[in-house]
Amino acid sequence: MTLFYHLRCVSCRQEFQPGTLDYTCPSCGPIRGTREVLYDFDAVRRHLNKDTLAQQSFDNHWRYLPLLPIERPELILPLAVGGTPLYKADKLASHWEMSTVWIKDDSRNPTASLKDRASSVAVVKAQEKGARAVTAASTGNAASSWSAFTALAGLDTYIFVPETAPRAKVAQLLLYGAHVIQVQGSYDDAFDLCCQAAEKWGWYNRSTSINPYLGEGKKTAALEICEQLDWQVPDYIFVSVGDGCIFQGMWKGFSDFYELGFIDRLPKMIGVQAAGSAPLVTAWENGAEVSQPIQAETVADSISVGVPRDQVKALRAARASDGKFIAVSDEEILAAIPILARQSGVFAEPAGATALAGAWKMRQSGALKSSDRILIMVTGHGLKDIEGVMKAVSQKPIVVDNDLAAVEQAVQQ
Ligand SMILES: *Cc1c(COP(=O)(O)O)cnc(C)c1O
Ligand SMILES: [Zn+2]
Repeated sequence: MTLFYHLRCVSCRQEFQPGTLDYTCPSCGPIRGTREVLYDFDAVRRHLNKDTLAQQSFDNHWRYLPLLPIERPELILPLAVGGTPLYKADKLASHWEMSTVWIKDDSRNPTASLKDRASSVAVVKAQEKGARAVTAASTGNAASSWSAFTALAGLDTYIFVPETAPRAKVAQLLLYGAHVIQVQGSYDDAFDLCCQAAEKWGWYNRSTSINPYLGEGKKTAALEICEQLDWQVPDYIFVSVGDGCIFQGMWKGFSDFYELGFIDRLPKMIGVQAAGSAPLVTAWENGAEVSQPIQAETVADSISVGVPRDQVKALRAARASDGKFIAVSDEEILAAIPILARQSGVFAEPAGATALAGAWKMRQSGALKSSDRILIMVTGHGLKDIEGVMKAVSQKPIVVDNDLAAVEQAVQQ
């Protein structure tokens, strides 16, 4: 099979053929040496165009296969990834006095977060390499997603999570049969330890961003948005940001479709970070090309990241799209969870509602006009972090004796 893609280092621009190197550019190192996947768009266009898409049912993201870095499609696993709903959130829009707000609900994936888009691609790459054992460092969602796919592929799986990972995410890991290594330290510590272990024992590593194929999987969220909105892209896309892989991956998706001529304009990308974990906001405001490491601290565990591993691509995506990075407080994140739930019906974990908190902040400050058409990404389900979301509600259940008089008294209060 002829391949339609090759890879290039984002810093020194050295080019690589598929299969020659798994992770970052050796000359530029793990942060500056992330690599991008580049396609032969003329070749892609022959296999993927508006006509081929119109002939397929919209049930998963493999409809974009010619635009994904897969060599052996027969290795694709049957879990249905993508094809997630896009809602026109009219109730929320009128609450905010805006004409058009869309919500893309990526909690509707097999393991309840957007990470399945990346894992479904990475597990094919691991199998193409003949890997037996695999690993990943994760705040929780990437790992629980990875564990589902690697269990199905029969791969021995070693997971590194910080000790603070929410219970539901750890439960998913254990249930799928991964070896769960809970590191007494931060996600950033778990990441470094995982990379050392992967190198020492030769495990295939899905840790975010050092593996160039993950962002390619994540970009399918953007491709779906283009199709679901009948090729009319929104003015703004709001994405919650930790390592920056979803953010840059979605920008890559819009850019690929633009290059193919399927859309005729590009959205502004707004990356929303938690104030206690906002190295990209600081770098953005200082015009820096790389961020300074920080000790991350936020209620939104999925974006609690001190050293964003995809920062070079993410910062460039914000710049290229005429977007930006903004920070929201933990209070604003928690307040966004019930707003999202009550105005749209979608239940998100804290990081899953962070993009909405950012959009609301920009609306309140006047940076968003009522006529701006915005799309908010929901990246992870509320049941992933019950302790987190319980902080967002002040109401308590009313406990009553088992009789109607007690209920009457309770409801009259
Ligand atoms: C991973 C994750 C993010 C952030 O993605 P990055 O690629 O690390 O920026 C946001 N929300 C949820 C729910 C996630 O699981
Ligand atoms: Zn390089």
